[in-house]
Order: sequence, then structure tokens, then C-alpha cells
Amino acid sequence: MQSYKDLIFGESFVDGSWQHASTHKLEVKNPVDLSVIAEIYDEDRAFVATAIQAAHHAFPAWKAKSAKERSAILMAWFDLIIQHKEELATIMTLESGKPLAESRGEVDYGASYIQWFAEEAKRNYGDIIPGYTADKRVMTLKEPIGVVGAITPWNFPLAMITRKVAPALAVGCTVVIRPSEETPLTALAINHLAQLAGFPAGVVNTLVGANASEMGKELCESKLVAKISFTGSTRVGQILMAQCAPTLKKMSLELGGNAPFIVFDDADVDLAVKGALAGKFRFGGQTCVCVNRILVQDKIHDLFVEKFSAAVKALKMGNGLEDGITLGPLINPAAIARMKSMLTDAQAKGGKVILGGQAKEPQFFEPTIVLEATSDMEFAHNEIFGPIAPIFRFKTEEEAIQLANDTIYGLASYFYTNDLNRSWRVREQLEYGIVGINEGLISSETVPFGGVKYSGQGREGSKYGLDSYVDIKYVCVGNVH
Ligand code: ADP
Repeated sequence: MQSYKDLIFGESFVDGSWQHASTHKLEVKNPVDLSVIAEIYDEDRAFVATAIQAAHHAFPAWKAKSAKERSAILMAWFDLIIQHKEELATIMTLESGKPLAESRGEVDYGASYIQWFAEEAKRNYGDIIPGYTADKRVMTLKEPIGVVGAITPWNFPLAMITRKVAPALAVGCTVVIRPSEETPLTALAINHLAQLAGFPAGVVNTLVGANASEMGKELCESKLVAKISFTGSTRVGQILMAQCAPTLKKMSLELGGNAPFIVFDDADVDLAVKGALAGKFRFGGQTCVCVNRILVQDKIHDLFVEKFSAAVKALKMGNGLEDGITLGPLINPAAIARMKSMLTDAQAKGGKVILGGQAKEPQFFEPTIVLEATSDMEFAHNEIFGPIAPIFRFKTEEEAIQLANDTIYGLASYFYTNDLNRSWRVREQLEYGIVGINEGLISSETVPFGGVKYSGQGREGSKYGLDSYVDIKYVCVGNVH
């Protein structure tokens, strides 16, 4: 293993080289102790325009390569990321606070999208359609849409990038990535590996800057950008969509969630506890598919609470680089403030905190369980994005479905039952893009990831993942005799 320090860069990667246009730097801090890990030139809107130009110029030649050539470069990128798993995982833990075992898991998970789309690149098939008159021959071609702007969050510093750019690059698009200012180091490290893998200059660009809204505006308003792929909050997704309207950009939006986790009376309680623990406390609750509301049926409620509390007590909070740590710090002070205000609100409305509830310096929050949660509490409707587990009690299946669907969001949902008929009834009634049945971990490159309602549009991963980066060109050959 190299030192992880060899993969830390202080400039943006534009048009095939490390560059800066700015004169000042932003600090990347470790949320464990707020120490400065690195300083990076803090770029702004004008430099985004430069990167878009580079991606625009690189597009024709990248598009003209055979799918097999593009696939080979993607495979080389995949191999390099896996070879550097330890360094990348260390960087990720340093800048995000994610426990090291989870960071290693994310390197594998993020890299798997590159491998998958390297394979899919070669199967970007069009159709031959029976001619609609005897002299016509009809076909479709799937062509890359052009320059793609990828705006990504801090909670999966690697995987949210690869999930977008791997399919885009596979079909022949070029990309401008704007990672979160909280976690730019992982993004730059994988761009370095992309360069080593052999992507031509201008095909992959990563721009780091703190001025998210201005950088976002350039990507949205530029006529040279064909598509924006965004993962983040519903609020910012709405802003981007409005900004993209004048240029009629294509968009993929992976936005907020409010995942229900329903435990029916007939469920295997131990399995449900295991699923709830993984689904709630993965990265401290800071993922968009994390369990937001645990709904437990009356008869099984007390048993579930007893076993779940015991499991939550066993979590170990601390520095994610240390062995055995399962819960790191939250990403920033705003997250701590949100936990506090959600708990104060819940307690004022009758919620009972039976575990945790306290913030710890500098940026930790104890794993927390709240009983007697009700629909009028803030966390019933807003994403918690932190280690608070509210438990709601329900009596009937109808009530559970009504509660589960009582939200503007529709990303992931989970339920536990051993009743075959119920499992069909409930999956069909849940208004969500993703349903986990007797399973709390549902992510893989092989499946379509995405939501309905205010959770966004488009699907990432799976055989559908290429669709949003291609235009279908219909070709009609007439007068064939
Ligand atoms: P989160 O709560 O996950 O940070 P955000 O939606 O605030 O969700 O952020 C997701 C990404 O979008 C981050 O990279 C952030 O810097 C960026 N972002 C925030 N506001 C804007 C904006 N107005 N335009 C473009 N990008 C933005």
C-alpha cells in the first residue's frame, strides 16, 4: 500500500491536468476532531465554465471510440480503485467520519458501478423495428447525450460519483463533477486514478469549490451541458430543476427520503432487529435510504424495543479509523443542531427517549431511541439524517400502510413479515421506488436505485442505468426496392 497521502491533491482536475484558477483555498476538516486534513484551491463559477469547455471539446473523440475501448478504460479504472482500496477508504474516513469498515465497503460498492457499466457499455443495443410500410427499414441507435454535470453529496464520497459517471462514460458522454465541499478529497483521488486508467484529457473533470450555488448555476445554465445528475436534498433538487428549465436539460434526481421500516406481529423479531440496526445506523443514519421511522405492531412492540435497545447499546461511537468503531461523528454542526431540535420537538409532544439523546464534543450524537413517536412530530415528516430511531406503534395493516405513505417522499421502504399474502399486499401498496422485505440493506449496482414523489426521478444502476445518458435516434430508410 502507498501512503494515503500520495492520493491527496490540492487542485481541481481539468482538461487532463491539475489546475487552479483561484488564489484562495478551502480547508477540508476531519469531523472527528475538526483538524484540517488538507487545503484545496477554492474554485468558482468561471472555472466550471472552463471545465465544461474542456468536456465539450473532448466529447466527439470519446463518443467515436468503440464501446470496447471505453469499456477497457473503465475496467482499468475499476482495477486501480480496488488496488487502492485501503488508501481511498482511509481518505474517506478522514473527511467524512465514516467507520473504516463502511468506507472499505463503499470503495467496493462504488467501484462495482464502474465494473458493471464497463460491461454494459458493450450492450448498449438499439432495435430493428419492422418497417411500417413494405419499402421501409427502421432502426434505433442509442447515442450519448453529451456533457454531463454531476453534483454529488458528502455521504457517499465515492459511490455517488461512480454511480453517475460510470454509465455516462460507458456510453460516450464526458463529465464535469462537482463533489461536495465537505468531501472533495475522495473525488480528486478517484479522478487521479481515472487519469492513470487512460481517460483522454477533458473526458473526466472534477472541480472543487465552496460556492455550490454559483458552480451549480454554471452547470445548469450552460448550453454546452446536456444533462445534470444530482444526488442531494429535495430543496436543492428543486432549485436545480428550475435552473435547468430554460435550457431544457435532462435530469436525474436522487433526492431525500423518509423510509418507513414496518415490523408486523408475525415477523421474525431477531431478523427485524438486525435489519433495523443496519438500516438505521449505517453511516450514523446519514444516508438517503436510512430508516427514518420504525413502525411496530402492537403485540410485538415491547419485545422488539427490548431487543433493538440491546443491539443499539452495543454500538461503539468514536474515531472511525479505530478498530471496532461502528458509529462516527456527524458531518457538521448543522446536523447536531437538527438532532437536538428534533428531539426537543418530539419530547414536547410526548416522545420518550429511552436511550442516548446527548451530543458529545466536537460533533458526535449518541445513538438514540424515542418511543411513542407520533405523526405530529418533526421527524415523522422530515429526514433525520442522524442516529435517532423513532418508534411508532400501530394496530392494523391498513394503519401501517397509511402511516408509511403519509409523506411527500418515496425512496426506500422496508417491512418484515412471514405472511406470504401480506407480503404481496403491502409491497403493492407502498408508494416507494424501493421495497425491502425482510431485508434492511438493499443497495447493489445490479438493481435500479431511485425514488417516486419528492424523492426524485430516474434510476441509477442496473440495466436501466444507461438509459438516462443516451438519446434514442430513430432512423428510417425509405424506398427500399
Ligand atoms: P446534503 O444535505 O446531502 O448536503 P444538499 O442538497 O445540501 O444535501 O447538498 C448536496 C450537494 O449539492 C452538495 O455537493 C452541495 O454542496 C450541493 N449544493 C448545495 N446547494 C446547491 C445549489 N444551490 N446548487 C448546486 N449545488 C448545490
